[in-house]
Amino acid sequence: MCMHCEDAPCMEVCPTGALSRDSETNGVVWEKQKCIGCKLCVSACPFGNVSYDIETKRVIKCDLCNGEPACAKACPNQAIEYKEADEGVIAKKALYAEKFKKVFEEVS
Ligand code: SF4
Ligand code: SF4
Ligand code: SF4
Repeated sequence: MCMHCEDAPCMEVCPTGALSRDSETNGVVWEKQKCIGCKLCVSACPFGNVSYDIETKRVIKCDLCNGEPACAKACPNQAIEYKEADEGVIAKKALYAEKFKKVFEEVS
């Protein structure tokens, strides 16, 4: 699941501005019209959270459903929740990111 990273590598590498920060949800969102399907964002995401669709020749990425995540609504056990990140959550994300980074460096 996309972490909507503060320093989103996918957004940094996108040459067309198809990935940007939504001012309302603060999520990293994608604009189909601007995407040229170069897949740079697919390579840049350390978590593997951008997929490439061979039919549309564009990428697929979580856009937070404009602030109303369908996944959170659909989950019967509230395993997915949409809420403000507190310091504990941010620290946990940073820890995961560091672990992923190490794994990524080992396999690349
Ligand atoms: S797609 Fe990957 S790099 Fe981009 S915001 Fe989501 S988790 Fe971060
Ligand atoms: S595939 Fe699309 S969204 Fe991804 S980096 Fe290229 S232009 Fe940007
Ligand atoms: S349902 Fe919406 S918020 Fe949930 S992962 Fe898919 S695009 Fe993202």
